[in-house]
Amino acid sequence: MAEDGVSLHLSRLGWKRAMEIVRNHRLWELYLTNEADYAEDHVHEDAEKIEHILEPGIVRQLEQHLDFPELDPHGKPIPQPTHLVAQPLATL
Ligand SMILES: [Zn+2]
Repeated sequence: MAEDGVSLHLSRLGWKRAMEIVRNHRLWELYLTNEADYAEDHVHEDAEKIEHILEPGIVRQLEQHLDFPELDPHGKPIPQPTHLVAQPLATL
């Protein structure tokens, strides 16, 4: 990753990984507000922690459980699986 002061350049894999983390984050926020009855403004910190450790299998379950949502509780778009990595994260 390099920053040139104008825009932030991520490698293709870096971009996918970044999208994946955003996706984990937003799905988790939605899960907390919908299922665990958290207030919308209290989910962000929790999601910041868990976004890095959610396993793909868990994410798929969350997604199914939430019926493939497109927006997080703050109305931001959740990146869809088509934006994501095809190979296992261990190879990154
Ligand atoms: Zn958040």
